[in-house]
Amino acid sequence: MLSNRTIELVRLQVNIKDVVSDYATLQSSGRKFKCCCPLHNEKTPSFHIDPVRNTWHCFGACGEGGDAISFIEKKEKLSFIEAVRFLAKKHNIPVEEDTQVSQHVQQRALLEEQLHLPQLSKGSASCSLTHVCPLLVTFWGQNEDFFHFLAK
Ligand SMILES: [Zn+2]
Repeated sequence: MLSNRTIELVRLQVNIKDVVSDYATLQSSGRKFKCCCPLHNEKTPSFHIDPVRNTWHCFGACGEGGDAISFIEKKEKLSFIEAVRFLAKKHNIPVEEDTQVSQHVQQRALLEEQLHLPQLSKGSASCSLTHVCPLLVTFWGQNEDFFHFLAK
């Protein structure tokens, strides 16, 4: 798992103008920049970059916009996390792994496996759950959605 700090650093430090200039030739347009959209084929520039807000927007066929991470997601066809890693590597931003989070996810997966959650029959567990399986209650804590699921 990537740490939130790494994601924040990429958001703050990676300049959308630098990122897009690898894929297209930018023209300055007042305080902004524009170019032919690197995400779709076009001959007149409808891809705008706002260096102050550090965002992009394509007013052409894409009709959407975002930040450097979302641009790389679309251009390189990567997931959000992969796009963050891609940009961090390129811009020499140290990547921190959040081991606590990944441990938590692993524990959760293990517990779910042990409890065979999908095999629990719906409705059987709602009232006597605390007696039947204290571990389950500890695990799900106050996750109301889960109890609603059981009660259906
Ligand atoms: Zn476009």
